[in-house]
Amino acid sequence: TRSNSANKSTSGKYLKELLQGMQPDQIRQHLWKFTRLPHLAGTEQNLRYAEQIGKEWLEFGLDTVEMVPYDVLLSYPNKSQPNYISIVDQFGSEVFNTSLAEPVPEGYEDVSNIVPPYSAFSAKGQPEGDLVYVNYGRTEDFSQLEKDMGINVTGKIVIIRYGKIFRGNKVTNAMLAGAKGVILFSDPADYCAVGVQSYPHGWNLPGGGAQRGNIFNMNGAGDPLTPGYPAKEYTYRSNLENVVGLPNIPVHPIGYNDAIHLLKNMGGQIPPNNWKGTLDVSYRIGPGFTGDFKSQKVRMNIHTNNQVTRIHNVIGRIRGALEPDRYVILGGHRDAWVFGGIDPMSGAAVVHEIVRTFGLLLRKGWRPRRTIIFASWDAEEFGLQGSTEWAEDNAKMLQERAVGYVNADSAIEGMYTLRVDCTPSLHTLVYDLTKQIASPEEGEEGVSLYESWHKRDNWTNDRDAPRISKLGSGSDFEAYFIRLGIAAARARYTKNKETERYSSYPVYHSVYETFELVDKFYDPTFKRLRAVAQVRAGLIFQLAESQLLPLDVNQYADSLGKYAQSIVQLAQRHPQEMTKYEVSFDALFSAVGNFSVAARDFHERLQTLNREEYDPMPVRVMNDQLMYLERAFIDPMGLPGRPFYRHVIFAPSSHNKYAGESFPGIYDALFDIKNSADTAKAWEEVKHQISIAAFTVHAAGMTLTPPA
Ligand code: GLU
Ligand code: CA
Ligand code: ZN
Ligand code: ZN
Repeated sequence: TRSNSANKSTSGKYLKELLQGMQPDQIRQHLWKFTRLPHLAGTEQNLRYAEQIGKEWLEFGLDTVEMVPYDVLLSYPNKSQPNYISIVDQFGSEVFNTSLAEPVPEGYEDVSNIVPPYSAFSAKGQPEGDLVYVNYGRTEDFSQLEKDMGINVTGKIVIIRYGKIFRGNKVTNAMLAGAKGVILFSDPADYCAVGVQSYPHGWNLPGGGAQRGNIFNMNGAGDPLTPGYPAKEYTYRSNLENVVGLPNIPVHPIGYNDAIHLLKNMGGQIPPNNWKGTLDVSYRIGPGFTGDFKSQKVRMNIHTNNQVTRIHNVIGRIRGALEPDRYVILGGHRDAWVFGGIDPMSGAAVVHEIVRTFGLLLRKGWRPRRTIIFASWDAEEFGLQGSTEWAEDNAKMLQERAVGYVNADSAIEGMYTLRVDCTPSLHTLVYDLTKQIASPEEGEEGVSLYESWHKRDNWTNDRDAPRISKLGSGSDFEAYFIRLGIAAARARYTKNKETERYSSYPVYHSVYETFELVDKFYDPTFKRLRAVAQVRAGLIFQLAESQLLPLDVNQYADSLGKYAQSIVQLAQRHPQEMTKYEVSFDALFSAVGNFSVAARDFHERLQTLNREEYDPMPVRVMNDQLMYLERAFIDPMGLPGRPFYRHVIFAPSSHNKYAGESFPGIYDALFDIKNSADTAKAWEEVKHQISIAAFTVHAAGMTLTPPA
């Protein structure tokens, strides 16, 4: 074992060099360079940045860099017919119009190609009608509106505040409820922190700012016209009319200055307090206006076009020395709504610095054991399209060879502590690694990132460790984790969830996401971004370099046990039905038991594994078991109605794409089951889903047993 431990210590030395090599000042420069101009997906400028990134990656020392184009469906406002919303009087004259653009921040007045706030993939149209206010537009908000308040939104225009859930789910809910238009607004309650000034004096959203964003619900499909296959030149494209997942009603986002005008004269019931924001209006739910304004209507004027457009991913590689056929992927998007100061360039600047630092190691003669792939994805903002098309293009290779995927979207959304979401098998690696990284916080010299994070965000009362959450979606890891079953992780700096109520961060997807936003407010020393760079790079390094893959299957067993507990508790809210329809979770618990035994035995065998480098087969055999464990949770049939969501343990919540749901098949079958039209059939579906989950967990456990 001497050669082995010698290797281990040289690779430990290189890990240290990697972590120490990344420089705050360099990250600052990368961020500055890549936030000079707007670079929306499909535009000339985003291609320019792609070329620049590719060129610099080669200069840093990557073995290969390629530009990979796809032609996908994007959506842009019509330049000669602006989108806006009007209040019209009884004669049809527009008595109020929402603004056509955000006031441009100082220093950027001469910049062209700033796309005005819009909802990508909105249907065109000019619906006119009465407004109904539906709070956050969540499933529970719509059911409260219909059941408790007795309001039907059929034929109405709904006005919904941003926050809590992915905006696409809000639009789906509104469509299902029969609305003919959706207005999304940012309420100061959700987009302004207390005691903070509006940009540029602070980091709050100004009244004229608005959140852009796509509103489609393709459930993991990527490009709407080529589901399942890469969107190349020769690829067959389906007819736009037959695509499900694109909204069929107009949708438009506005800021709170404009929202006041739409809300202030609304009539109808006063809603419960938790429906009220902090604007100086009563938040009445409508429908329509009251008093003197009764005859006024709201009209939306939306002329946004869908358009097949060329996008470009940049793919760079470091060839692995020993196991070139094993891939570790670091991917994050490059396309931005405007400048991308936080989203995504804080992440892209971190990736750039990671590539630069890996380049320094290569120059010193280091080469990773496995192949590392770096990706700068395009068109994430239009529904994760660049990353999904590349996953489709390379699915056969990735399913055989990918060891792990680390996502690199926005590296910061707050100034408080670290946030990590990852697959259970990566928990242990994240903890080990953060113990080797320094806290970036002022006054915490000598404190590790782990300690700093632990102090600020302890998991729960019964688990004394920093909190790690389940992966949801809403960023580019989706196709890799949920469709292909590749172990995945994301890490960023975040806010204090306990005290900071606002959603994402105040100026999210607005023109105010500038370089100065980060440089002045979020991370003036760039040490927080360095810490995130160290976490992301460290994960990649360890996955690519460790002789044994740093995946902990005991941790997966532990998590499966917890998820099983929580789903059975959900079902047990219906004890009578469980008895009546003979619903049992025994098979699932027994599968989790088998999995746990297999996991424990597996780790025990690892202890005595022959790890001599002259006999690589025993290590490779067990590494393959580790790599393929995540793959074993993939059901080729997919989840009900969501064929590209194939992971049986994790899926984006059907009610909020950003959130992760465990045992999603069972969860969805149980959802609102007391109101189902056919109770017996609904419980049959629960039983069906339990059996699929039980089989999958059992089968995954079997892959951990000795092969012979
Ligand atoms: N990250 C983008 C957003 O939240 C895209 C998410 C998605 O389409 O899943 O708007
Ligand atoms: Ca496709
Ligand atoms: Zn974004
Ligand atoms: Zn992003």
